[in-house]
Amino acid sequence: MPKTPMGRRALPVIGAAVALSGCAAKYHYEPKAERPNIVFIFSDDHAWQAISAYSPRLIDTPNIDRLANEGTLFRNCYVTNSICGPSRAAVLTGKYSHANGFYRNGNLFDGSQWTFPQALQGAGYETALIGKWHLGEHMAPQGFDYSCTLIRQGPYYNPPMLLDENGDGKREEISHTGYTTDVITDLTLDWLENREDRSRPFLLMTQHKAPHRPWMPALRHLDEFEDVTIPEPETFFDDYGGRPRSVLLQDMAIEYTMVDRDLKLEEMPHLNDEQREQWNAVYGPRNDAFREANLEGDDLTRWKYQRYIKDYLRCIRGVDENVGRLLDYLDESSQAENTIVIYCSDQGFFLGEHGWFDKRWMYEESFRTPLLVRWPNHTAPGTENEDLVSVIDLAATFCDVSGAPADPDVHGRSLVPVLEGRTPEDWRDVFYYHYYEYPGWHGVRKHYGLADGRYKLIHFYELDMREWHLVDLVADPHELRNFYDDPEYAEVQARMHEALEEERRRLNVPDPDPPESYPPGDPFGPTKVEKVKKGFFLF
Ligand code: CA
Repeated sequence: MPKTPMGRRALPVIGAAVALSGCAAKYHYEPKAERPNIVFIFSDDHAWQAISAYSPRLIDTPNIDRLANEGTLFRNCYVTNSICGPSRAAVLTGKYSHANGFYRNGNLFDGSQWTFPQALQGAGYETALIGKWHLGEHMAPQGFDYSCTLIRQGPYYNPPMLLDENGDGKREEISHTGYTTDVITDLTLDWLENREDRSRPFLLMTQHKAPHRPWMPALRHLDEFEDVTIPEPETFFDDYGGRPRSVLLQDMAIEYTMVDRDLKLEEMPHLNDEQREQWNAVYGPRNDAFREANLEGDDLTRWKYQRYIKDYLRCIRGVDENVGRLLDYLDESSQAENTIVIYCSDQGFFLGEHGWFDKRWMYEESFRTPLLVRWPNHTAPGTENEDLVSVIDLAATFCDVSGAPADPDVHGRSLVPVLEGRTPEDWRDVFYYHYYEYPGWHGVRKHYGLADGRYKLIHFYELDMREWHLVDLVADPHELRNFYDDPEYAEVQARMHEALEEERRRLNVPDPDPPESYPPGDPFGPTKVEKVKKGFFLF
């Protein structure tokens, strides 16, 4: 079992938390009468295609599906900027990157700004953050009575974590043994079990590293899917024709971008001796057979896809099991009735569509993210919603249910009426997107755009290659064509242009990009070797 320091330190933690509730919190508000607990389960790079409630094609996820069966599944939840750190900053602040200052991985989050955990803490919630943070280690996460966070990306096994056990910003590094998805849930359950002041509602953010690259499954799942062939997506051998050249000029293809570590063809880091022995006993013979086969061309690409997708799905298996553990605990401790449970990912992900892995694009696989919400007596069981909602709506939503006023400048809106099946007449009918991380990993050029649920107008705006992409999801659901400047779409194009400019004005999007989106000491070197040497990414 992982080392869990909560038990021996429970008393000082609780004492400090009680003291904080009265005077030390940065934001203080009078509470609402009915105040549910909030459990926010956040995974990293979990594609909606790999949740059976969204799509049964790849995997069965019975525990995550419970939230759909007992609550609401959102079909059109969008991210503002489809990359880890920026999306996390958008969740915390309820604002777009240009307003919260976090444009791209490598930026450092400004913790002095308003965030919903601080607001809920000020409204008397007991607040905890456990797992992935990924907004910089320059300061402790703000607004939490307790936090225990992975350092940077964090490893899949035996994670060192930074513990701030009473929310005073003093952190110590603690090592844990075990599979990180399990460790994060163990710590989560320990925190729930050791809470002493049950009169206060809680906000618990439990944030997984999985299923982020390099997709290392738990040892108990290494044999899953091995005897099946996962079907390739229809667009797996995309030639990127008929679309902006920016789509062609990326570096995120399963065929040519994946490295041996992604494919488990080299010794994997962070395992202890016992884990390594079990790991190698499984992957060693598989890798020998692969080398023996001496695959080339499309056969090699197909093999890479199978290795990738199976490891990815095995990681999902670990996440789903741990969601089940948490839901079971809420049931057994009689807290399910008064607890909102949210499952969400920081963005979607490509699982071989267009031959890709990774995210970043304003295309459906990465632009849409899973969002499932169970709120007993508010969400009708088994409901699906197709309104245009976003991760930036979460901050306003959590403030609404807790009685803490949201910052007046948040861009998102409370989902409470939507969750209760009474979407306001003036709910948004378009959604703005903006990706900034270029130059950077995977060579995806900066772009912004607008979606209305059917059409998307996307602008790649690098000075050397300014291009437009008009998408019609009804005529072309896989986004393989460009309807821009097609005479039949002239009216749609003009309408989308106008709406896009109006939305940029409404959101005060700077033009051109502010200098903060080009951080000094840009960590993205020109070659993969340099990037790995600098220790960024992969792990
Ligand atoms: Ca992510």
